[in-house]
Amino acid sequence: MESTLSRVPTGLLLGGHDSAAAGARRFAVANPATEEILLEVADAGPDDAARALDIAAQAQPHWAATPPRQRAEILRRAYELVERSRDDFARLITLEMGKPLAESHAEVTYGAEFLRWFSEEAVRINGRYTAAPAGNGRILVTKQAVGPVLAITPWNFPLAMGTRKIAAAVAAGCTTIIKPAPDTPLTTLLLGSVLAEAGLPDGVLSVLPTTDAAALVAPLFADRRLRKLTFTGSTAVGKSLLAQAAGRVLRTSMELGGNAPFVVFADADVDAAVEGALAAKMRNGGEACTAANRIHVDNAVREEFTEKFTARMAKLTLGDGTHPGVDVGPLINERQRAKVAELVDDAVGKGAALLLGGQPAPGRGHFYPPTVLTEIPSDARLLAEEVFGPVAAIVGFDGEAAGVAAANATEFGLAAYIYTRDLDRALRVSGQIESGMVGVNRGIISDAAAPFGGIKESGLGREGGGEGIEEYLETKYIALT
Ligand code: NAD
Repeated sequence: MESTLSRVPTGLLLGGHDSAAAGARRFAVANPATEEILLEVADAGPDDAARALDIAAQAQPHWAATPPRQRAEILRRAYELVERSRDDFARLITLEMGKPLAESHAEVTYGAEFLRWFSEEAVRINGRYTAAPAGNGRILVTKQAVGPVLAITPWNFPLAMGTRKIAAAVAAGCTTIIKPAPDTPLTTLLLGSVLAEAGLPDGVLSVLPTTDAAALVAPLFADRRLRKLTFTGSTAVGKSLLAQAAGRVLRTSMELGGNAPFVVFADADVDAAVEGALAAKMRNGGEACTAANRIHVDNAVREEFTEKFTARMAKLTLGDGTHPGVDVGPLINERQRAKVAELVDDAVGKGAALLLGGQPAPGRGHFYPPTVLTEIPSDARLLAEEVFGPVAAIVGFDGEAAGVAAANATEFGLAAYIYTRDLDRALRVSGQIESGMVGVNRGIISDAAAPFGGIKESGLGREGGGEGIEEYLETKYIALT
């Protein structure tokens, strides 16, 4: 543990350089499993943000003009360096975020892949050329880097949320200021130092941990040199940032909250659906925007599904993610644990049946056990709100149309999952479900090569895939004779 933590730069990374925050402010980062302090890091304020933007704006023209192949090779080297340091990254993710080590390794694989994927995309930024239909000119369409980017990330995937944004921005030729979540800045700081080691030039990336995000971003929003905001986090914060961005018509990408339905139709392979639901619900201890928030099961198979699913949930071991054999780690902090407990208590108070769990674990650490609820009244808050914890809510329905209607009864639209053995039904329902992503007979869908993102109040834009780099590019039309 000591050697892993000693690799983390604990200052701000201003244009890649380890620097003190103005006023030398610092804050402590704690382990959610033990509540012990891991490290203290610099606490950036508005003056630091303004310095970071000066640096980003100055580096922008040169970085955008750097040959794509060179940008690609830096990202590729960074991919290799992250892979080489995978034990340190995985351990750091577990220490500051709490997920079990095996899941942190899976995040390293996923997170590193964005570096490799966008290294491959950097050299494939294409425009187009056509003759004007009227025969009176030619149309040349080019792509160019948007310009300095502000990236704001959440705590649930400390590495992958950073690489998903930084790698795309770097590949497109944008300089970037990243503000990690205050619970988990260490992984982003280590990533920043790895990118510098990979050859990212001075000025291209700044990492600004802070305890006062609103104050930090204020001068950035007021400055017209900032050209893009990319945010991953809650819908509430996303809406307030969109309102601020509107003041300057700032380009935005918004990856916001979810309320994913997991729909098991009567013809599903129930055993496969149980395994899929377990993955979709319990990956990251339920602290994922793609987590199955509501499990809708056709009443024809509901009893069988509920019994088997509850038995699988009961076998999961809760504990410190650094310990072997642990399946579910702590929640990120006490606030999050209180919210999960509140949603469960609300449902039980309104008449839901508690089949497993339901009580915060005693002792140190923000632990909440795997929990299963059924017979949930329609006004229970956990059907409408993102629970972000290891709580499965099982609800019955009768027939395909009712299943689809239940799935769509939310203002969110990020991920959805369906289980059926009927290909026609799978394609029909995938088309009807109001979400940016649909998993068919699988509970894990994230892939660096696929466009990740939501519709409705789950966001704007896509990350990953060929679409991901477009978020950092402007389209320019050049009219030729
Ligand atoms: P959050 O919205 O509280 O915080 C996200 C980030 O925004 C953090 O870095 C935080 O410090 C920052 N922030 C908070 N207030 C701010 C302000 N006024 N100005 C600027 N920045 C501010 O969310 P969270 O609790 O960290 O993460 C959980 C949420 O993120 C969930 O709703 C989850 O669904 C969502 N999420 C979405 C995706 C996705 O891709 N759609 C992925 C992961 C998490």
